[in-house]
Amino acid sequence: MRPTADLPAALEERPPSPLQEIHDEALARVGVRLVLKRDDLVHPDLPGNKWRKLRLNLAAAVESGGQALLTFGGAYSNHLRATAAAGRMLGLATVGVVRGDELAGRPLNPSLARAAADGMRLHFVTRAAYRRKTDPDFLAGLEERFGAFHLVPEGGSNALAVLGCVDLGRELRGHADVVAVACGTGGTLAGLAAGLDDGRRAIGFPVLKGGGFLADDIARLQAEAFGGPRGDWSLDTRFHCGGYARVTPRLRAFAEEFGRLHGLTPDLTYVAKMLLGVRTLAEEGAFAPGTRVAAVITG
Ligand SMILES: *Cc1c(COP(=O)(O)O)cnc(C)c1O
Repeated sequence: MRPTADLPAALEERPPSPLQEIHDEALARVGVRLVLKRDDLVHPDLPGNKWRKLRLNLAAAVESGGQALLTFGGAYSNHLRATAAAGRMLGLATVGVVRGDELAGRPLNPSLARAAADGMRLHFVTRAAYRRKTDPDFLAGLEERFGAFHLVPEGGSNALAVLGCVDLGRELRGHADVVAVACGTGGTLAGLAAGLDDGRRAIGFPVLKGGGFLADDIARLQAEAFGGPRGDWSLDTRFHCGGYARVTPRLRAFAEEFGRLHGLTPDLTYVAKMLLGVRTLAEEGAFAPGTRVAAVITG
């Protein structure tokens, strides 16, 4: 496949995603102002942080002469779906290596069906094989099978992805004292923290259980992207609600209430956990009165 002529339009810089100030009683009581950074509106086909993370990777694939994009994900991965959509928009072939060979030959779930409809070749592998996703021998085998490709790691987080998220921090300059973001791999936090003004900070809320390990990953991603640490960031690992894609009754009730009050029902896998974290930190007195908190609506 060859890149299509509308490539520049699809990849061009986009206007900053909107900021939406909302009035939240629970936060107002402790003097905290909340704005939502509506990254879910950043791109019509590639909403949220996935567009920011993919943009420079897509440009690299196109510059390499239109190489296929190959990436990894679980059966419900937003990242696989976004990569497939990007490939369709740009006329790039995409290959998704999917965790779980038991899925092969079964009807596709809606997420994978969407990716397949966008032209992604799905390659199901065992969990043991999937764990080798960064192993050079394993990648060489994939290259033999699918031809040369531009590799985007699981969750889309590499140095180019981190660089693509710096703008998210820049767009928040002058608008927020503290920025809150949900973390899967931490790539978005790594970039966003680098774009903030001096004296401003970012808090990441891992959605996986035991997400403390992300601190090392984020430091490594920043070293790859910038040559060293950047920005003031920290993690609060208390709000995973049981683990990735797990939901507690409290989380569900909180998300429904937020939707009723503010007209935006947050996604339960990521955004709701972050918002619950912000609410809890505010109630714990973690933010001085007058603090402006920006919550990134990543999807
Ligand atoms: C993928 C995703 C994230 C996680 O981003 P990382 O850069 O991997 O930390 C957060 N929110 C939403 C909605 C996502 O789809």
